[in-house]
Amino acid sequence: MLLLQRARIPAAVLPASIADPAPDPMEPSLLCDIALDGPRIASVARSAAPGAAPPVPGAPTANAVDLDGAMVFPGFVDAHVHLDKAHTWDRAPNRTGRFSEALETLARDREGWTRRDILRRAGFALRCAWEHGTRAVRTHVDTWLPWGEENHAVMHELRGAWRGRIALQTVPLTGIANYSGTEGDAIADLSLKYGACALGGWSPMSPDLPRQLDRLLAIARDRGLGLDLHVDENGSPAEEVLRAVAEAVIRNRFGNPVVCGHCCSLAVQAPERQRSTIALAREAAIRVISLPLCNLYLQDRRGPEFPRTPYWRGITLIHELLDAGVPLACASDNVRDAFHAYGDLDAAEVCIQSVRLAHLDSRLGASVGLVTSAAADIVGLPGMGRVAPGAPSQLVIFPSRSFSEFLSRPGSGRRLVDGEAIREASRPDFGELR
Ligand SMILES: [Zn+2]
Repeated sequence: MLLLQRARIPAAVLPASIADPAPDPMEPSLLCDIALDGPRIASVARSAAPGAAPPVPGAPTANAVDLDGAMVFPGFVDAHVHLDKAHTWDRAPNRTGRFSEALETLARDREGWTRRDILRRAGFALRCAWEHGTRAVRTHVDTWLPWGEENHAVMHELRGAWRGRIALQTVPLTGIANYSGTEGDAIADLSLKYGACALGGWSPMSPDLPRQLDRLLAIARDRGLGLDLHVDENGSPAEEVLRAVAEAVIRNRFGNPVVCGHCCSLAVQAPERQRSTIALAREAAIRVISLPLCNLYLQDRRGPEFPRTPYWRGITLIHELLDAGVPLACASDNVRDAFHAYGDLDAAEVCIQSVRLAHLDSRLGASVGLVTSAAADIVGLPGMGRVAPGAPSQLVIFPSRSFSEFLSRPGSGRRLVDGEAIREASRPDFGELR
């Protein structure tokens, strides 16, 4: 048994019985003692006042560590990444930062991907995520038949290698139209063969989109799968794939989980249209994943002139979706590739930057859930991303003692708890990739 005393835990990841009454919204965290018994959290309770008896049963005999108010998060859940593209920047940079160049550059680079190359880059990325404290990752996997089997095979291999440390989920990424062609069943079956948890894809608006979505939903339903789609990753008000997906889900009475990532163009549509699309998304029980760092990099690169100062942050309507009751997470998306030049699969960075970009200072309590408990629920791992009895003994200890300190030093180091062991995080050296 390991007892962590006086840990400052965000209320969003605590059981309601402990988080109630709610703490000050300017500092939505509580001092707690956490008892860890091997791979699981045995108990969590508010810390006793100084001099009072510890409230956690078994505490006197436990191996106790006084954290003196250091912030403790559960292991992070990164709900949307692209491990197969990660760390290709040095050989395949995006010289204009434009979405179209990202597509072209990585389509060219993909031709040279081998098992060894994907394994090396994706493995490195997972080690970075692990050292940042992430314990579940959902990656999209490029699948453009006949190309793609090796990509899935590598991710399957990595899933096995990381079992017990990082829960690795996979989703195929292809054109939504491809599911309507002769390859539709083959894409789904190939993905399932290597353990995919949902079907994925992306599409621009087109007159065929409703019919293509009907076909995709039928393929997914046949296999008992949900969807995790890339939608509306652009600043054009005419792009309404989110709305089309919601309508298709309702039309087909599709009951499996449906996730829509990005949803950027929603933010540039007319207010009445925004409200009605959000209402449809809510009715269709769609879950949204926002990718703020990648959106900040790629969106609002308008006009022929380059460079030009961007006006828009690129993110979807995070507040309005949350207000409507749409489940929402934030995630890393691409790291060090042509879609996003930077990033290190650090969910704490995603959380901190999301607070800054989306003014989540007004809902600090929920902000932590976006990369922990809410993200876990969205990817179907509701036991993760929480500091609660029965949850994994996977915790991240920051040197900060308040939200203000946490948000002010994005690059601060951290200690990691796995089981009953505590160690300093140690990020891999980028030099390994040269
Ligand atoms: Zn993505």
